[in-house]
Amino acid sequence: MLNLQGDVREHVAALGDVGVQSRLIKRPDDLDGAAGLILPGGESTTLSMLLASTGLFEAVAERLDEGFPVLGTCAGLVLLAREVLDGRPDQRSFGALDAVVRRNGFGRQVASFETGLEFGEGPLLPAVFIRAPYVVSVGEAVDVLASVLHRGIGSDGPAMESPALLRQANVLASCFHPELTADRRVHRLFAEMCAG
Ligand code: GLN
Repeated sequence: MLNLQGDVREHVAALGDVGVQSRLIKRPDDLDGAAGLILPGGESTTLSMLLASTGLFEAVAERLDEGFPVLGTCAGLVLLAREVLDGRPDQRSFGALDAVVRRNGFGRQVASFETGLEFGEGPLLPAVFIRAPYVVSVGEAVDVLASVLHRGIGSDGPAMESPALLRQANVLASCFHPELTADRRVHRLFAEMCAG
């Protein structure tokens, strides 16, 4: 659990709910022996800066290349994406998720909203979006596990489906905050990725 900035405590509790013990990652050494990593929501610009100054950026990038499981939620998804629109010019991302994302891409009026997403065969997955990134496009290697019906920023056309929960091999990423609701399916899936 990356512990530089963002909603760390909620993720730790969610991992506990699915029987996973977590540790807080603040420096590269903390990653030794970890089975996976969560990049939480917060501010991707700040997280990017802190990742670089702690030396964690390189350490995480290396592990991502080797297939280390990483879950990124909201700002965490921004950090994983190949291309970030409306980011700060100096913000970095790992490029481990073949997706183009727009920061705060759901627009101002609806900066935050909650909805239910179709996910597998179960009940709708409750999803809280908070100044969330909007996924503009994804590459072929990306599996879209759930989508949200919404009109992205700058569009006055009809609502369209855009990816909200994505997986590419060892990378799982959500535009929303699964740690803020009681449904643990996203954390359970990530725990399985870490175990396998
Ligand atoms: N808007 C934030 C960002 O880009 C993400 C918000 C969040 O994580 N809730 O970085």
